[in-house]
Amino acid sequence: MKILVINTGSSSIKYQLFNMDTQSVLCSGVVERIGEECGILTHKIIKDNGTSDKKIYEGDIKDHVTGFKHIVDYLINDEFGVIKDSSEIDAVGHRVVHGGETFKAPTEIDDSVIDAIKQNVPLAPLHNPSNLTGIEVALSVFPESKQIAVFDTAFHQSIPDYAYIYAIPYSLYEEKRVRRYGFHGTSHAYVSETCAEYLGKPVDQLNLITVHLGNGGSMAAVKKGKCIDTTMGMTPLEGLVMGTRTGDVDPALPFFLASNMDMSMDDIDTLLNKESGLKGICGTNDMREVFKLRDEGNERAKLALDIYCYRTKKYIGAYYAALGSLDAIIFTAGIGEHSPDVRKFSCAGLENFGIKIDEDKNENYEDGIAEISTENSKVKVLIVPTNEELRIAQETKKLIDGSNS
Ligand code: ADP
Repeated sequence: MKILVINTGSSSIKYQLFNMDTQSVLCSGVVERIGEECGILTHKIIKDNGTSDKKIYEGDIKDHVTGFKHIVDYLINDEFGVIKDSSEIDAVGHRVVHGGETFKAPTEIDDSVIDAIKQNVPLAPLHNPSNLTGIEVALSVFPESKQIAVFDTAFHQSIPDYAYIYAIPYSLYEEKRVRRYGFHGTSHAYVSETCAEYLGKPVDQLNLITVHLGNGGSMAAVKKGKCIDTTMGMTPLEGLVMGTRTGDVDPALPFFLASNMDMSMDDIDTLLNKESGLKGICGTNDMREVFKLRDEGNERAKLALDIYCYRTKKYIGAYYAALGSLDAIIFTAGIGEHSPDVRKFSCAGLENFGIKIDEDKNENYEDGIAEISTENSKVKVLIVPTNEELRIAQETKKLIDGSNS
């Protein structure tokens, strides 16, 4: 079975084609600068021996339809194509950012699903419209393939009401669905299940804290395979310190900025989402750069790192309490997978909670899943590389297999 996974943004389309029989990627790529003067398609073909070959198209990509057509041209190209024609694609799995309360699981797309995604646009005005464009274009370009939507928010729909309702007038929830939704659900679900497989236990017998630290960052408390709390909220702004986002701040901060700094709603939005986090404190949102600055003696970079890891540690404590008992902490995504110092500082001082990192294992590990806690650490600490695209492909296959059986 061949599944094409698609993540459509306002001016980009990311894709990966999986052969699910071998769980391997046949090719992947990204179309960027759609609608700009010069668009670009970067296409990577993965060979059987694991090496890859890159093909680049530069030229007019005036809209998403054109972008998809270029992708298909490369997929079926006479010289380097990986399929004969687009009907070989059994299904297209779409990443959809916001499923609101409507979608608790991956769903086969039909008109009513498209309508429901549209209804959730006010909750994700930057993402859902592009995801919808991707769906509409894919329906016309791959008419023979099944189309499945996989939602970032779905994994968090098991969170109990006392953890997702904000202490504001309840009518705002009833009328406008203002509540915690959480994001990165595909990643939290994938690393939870991968960790369970690695530990050789069913996921419903484990309590886990998943720590996804990329440009955006979020954590989840996962009790017996079900998410019971997560750090991101109604939007991806709440929770951890991120590359450019504040994470938790006093909700009165916007009033202060409006009345004392004469800032508009848009100014405040930009400040909190794009000019804060690591960047706000030390000038860069790239964690590798933060480390470089810190190593050069930059005090602000050290402070940014301290704040970042302290916030992560606070949530480890909070989620340990929410779970009652803890089997493993999982670090994932760009920073979680690659930064020994962030893992070390985020777990520092938690030895009395049974969380002990082995310094050597934390510094020296192979690619893939790595156990970085000491032999006698009660709670295991693991690095589990995330793979949101593979998870979308797996979920898509599961749904199709289920509907065919
Ligand atoms: P996104 O959320 O955009 O998918 P990623 O998961 O790729 O982001 O994570 C990007 C972050 O990972 C950046 O802050 C980058 O600096 C950081 N990162 C990548 N490699 C390393 C590394 N070796 N050490 C520290 N941070 C790293």
